[in-house]
Amino acid sequence: MLILTCPYCGVAAEETELHPGGEAHLTRHGPGSTDADFEWYLFARRNPKGVHFERWRHLYGCGKWFLAARDTVTLQVFGTYPAQSKYPPREIIAAIRADRPDWVPHWDEITGDSAPGVGNDPAPNPTPARDSFA
Ligand SMILES: [Zn+2]
Repeated sequence: MLILTCPYCGVAAEETELHPGGEAHLTRHGPGSTDADFEWYLFARRNPKGVHFERWRHLYGCGKWFLAARDTVTLQVFGTYPAQSKYPPREIIAAIRADRPDWVPHWDEITGDSAPGVGNDPAPNPTPARDSFA
């Protein structure tokens, strides 16, 4: 069974207490964007066999949305983090790289640019300053 720890209330919740919200870190495209970008935003989703970043809601707990990095095959969880994060925290990227040396992030496909902190570039804290929980 999949167990994810809610980064807001700290509860280790079983899958039945959570609601999936699909792929995380989507770039939202609206009016004024190209048809291809809008189509990608509306319909295209990654469904990898391996490391994946997802949105989850702690439905039967605090009710907040958060993000999780996990392996879709083994259900190994690399970490959870606030939904307002533009990119996964460094420690989660490090945990993935430690366990999956061949893993290659697909940030360019998701965000249209390179994520700081992925690779050799130092990154600012991806968690917005208004998130004071720890
Ligand atoms: Zn919670």
